[in-house]
Amino acid sequence: MKVHYEGTAVSTRLLSDHAACVAEWKAIRASHLANKVENYSDVAYNYAACPHGFLLEGRGVGRRTGANGNQDLNRAHYAIVGLVGSEGLTEPTDAMLSAIRDGIELLREHGAGTEIKGHRDGYATSCPGGPLYAWVQKARRVRPPRPRPPRPRHPLSRRTTCPPR
Ligand SMILES: [Zn+2]
Ligand SMILES: [Zn+2]
Repeated sequence: MKVHYEGTAVSTRLLSDHAACVAEWKAIRASHLANKVENYSDVAYNYAACPHGFLLEGRGVGRRTGANGNQDLNRAHYAIVGLVGSEGLTEPTDAMLSAIRDGIELLREHGAGTEIKGHRDGYATSCPGGPLYAWVQKARRVRPPRPRPPRPRHPLSRRTTCPPR
């Protein structure tokens, strides 16, 4: 998994208007489709995460990304972009981070590995920017929770209405 940011200025208007997030995502897709050098068939990312916690679909599961910088990296990693940039809206909201988590979990359910990296890991770019990269570094240290065996219920346990004095 590679985490990205937009790399350009992103309007803080996104924070107060989810319609602006959707418009932003459509604009990213349009700009990728207009890129005659890359000849993209769709937006390059698998998913985007907006400040309100929505996971916005791009190429989705099972599709190779075009966002990671070269063919090897595109083959090896999925790509999720947080809708933050280098100016304006630069700090991911907590809701955005959990949407990125949702995207990671979803892709893992469809065969993605456990690795979480920034675009800058292994490629010369500042992407995904300082604030989002700080989260990536934390997220990859956190192991996904393992299912715990159910705790045996004590047959004699009773609810008490107040603590014993
Ligand atoms: Zn990137
Ligand atoms: Zn939104």
